[in-house]
This record gives sequence, C-alpha cells and structure tokens, in this order.
Amino acid sequence: MLILSFIVGAAIGSFLNVVIYRLPEEGQSIVFPGSHCPGCGKSIKWYDNIPIISFFLLRARCRYCKIKISWQYPMVELAMALFAAALFYRFSLSPSLFIYFVFVAALVVVIFIDFHHMIIPDVISLSGIALGFGLSFVNPLVTWQQSGLGILLGGGSLYLIAASYYLVTKREGMGGGDIKLLAMIGAFLGWQSLPFVVFSSSVLGAVAGFTIIICQRNKGNKAGKTAIPYGPFLSIGSIFYLFFQEKIHEFILWYFFPT
Ligand SMILES: [Zn+2]
Repeated sequence: MLILSFIVGAAIGSFLNVVIYRLPEEGQSIVFPGSHCPGCGKSIKWYDNIPIISFFLLRARCRYCKIKISWQYPMVELAMALFAAALFYRFSLSPSLFIYFVFVAALVVVIFIDFHHMIIPDVISLSGIALGFGLSFVNPLVTWQQSGLGILLGGGSLYLIAASYYLVTKREGMGGGDIKLLAMIGAFLGWQSLPFVVFSSSVLGAVAGFTIIICQRNKGNKAGKTAIPYGPFLSIGSIFYLFFQEKIHEFILWYFFPT
C-alpha cells in the first residue's frame, strides 16, 4: 500500500506540474492539449512522460530539440510521491488520508506558482476555503467549529497584520492572496494550527529574506526592496504542522507552562 501510494502520488505530481505551468497563463486549459515540449512544441510520448524516471532517462533534455527540462518537474513528482506515502503511513485508509492529500497537493501548487509569479490563484484559495470547511463534517481530525474559526481567525489575523503594515509604511507588504491562503489553511487544519503556522512561516521567511540580502551584497548589488512571496512559507509551515502537530503542541505546552 505504501508503494502504491508512492506511485499514485508521483502520477498526481505529474498532473500538478501541468497545473503549475498552465494555471497562471490566461486561457490555457489544464486538460487540453496533452503535454508538449515548451521548446519545440512536439507532444511528449507516454514513455517519455513517466513520473520521476523519464527525467533521468532523458538526462533532463527534450528527446527532439534537446532543450533543458526544469528540475521542478521531477521535484514536484517526487515530493507528491513522498507526501502520499507519508500521509498513508500517518492516516492509513481513512477520510483524513484523502482530505489531506488534496490539501497538500493544493499547497504544492501554491508554493511554485507564488514563487514564480507572486500570486496565489483564487481558484485554489477560495475553493480551498469552501472545500476545507465542507470536508470538516467528515474529517475526524477537525470539527466544523474548529474549521470555521480557523477561516475567520486565519483570514482575520493576516488582514489585521496587512492593514497595520500598510498604515505604518504606506506600502503593501502582504497581498490578499496570503490572507485567503491562511483562511484556507485554517479551514483544513483548524484554528489551533494558526499560531504555529504564522510563527514558523515568519521565521522561515525572515531567514530566506536575510539570505537573499546577504547574497546580493556579496554579488555587489545594492540591497534594495526585494519582494519575496510569503505563500510558500505559509504552505511549508502548515505541511510541518500537518505531520508533527502532536510534537508541536507538546512543545508549546512545555514552553509556556513548564512544570
Ligand atoms: Zn523539444
């Protein structure tokens, strides 16, 4: 079953690559046409489209025009394969397995689209809010009250931070996309997840920000106002929470209420 989840995860990762590539492009259908090379436009044969494996067999190049294929493709496939196996290991065959597989798939798409385009499509975040709340009625891990409160507090808290940042600096620090994304995370994981998700994503974002500034200094560039997307860090923080919430709650209790 673990191996089967790995294979199914890799296949869905292959589909997510198409979503990541086509969703931000206006008017591109996600289903048609089938996969084709962005270099020469030739359609990709099934034997060149095997998740993870084909990339290495083709040595990261198109069979026809030899254009380089991005590492992102096998990375997304491998990540989804590992997540699917890990989710099966954690939840076995239960509603939570499917619910959180959909959730992680949405987050992986958000990570890459936000990274490349600095947007989080409403199609994902808004339908994610509705879906997460709807599924809370069959999800043994989160009650509908926790999910509903997660939406309100998730969206509300980031909205307050964004509004006060704007009042102080007169610059937009966080987009509406991040607000809707945290509301979606609250819908799937419940309000209890929010303190950790906000805290861990801020730390990750700050580390990434400082790293970028230092790298730019070393290259001799003047450190300007580099915008980095916040969505990937929110997503990574909530995936951490999904897998390690017991340990995280234990740690928070121990930290704030030591005995
Ligand atoms: Zn090609």
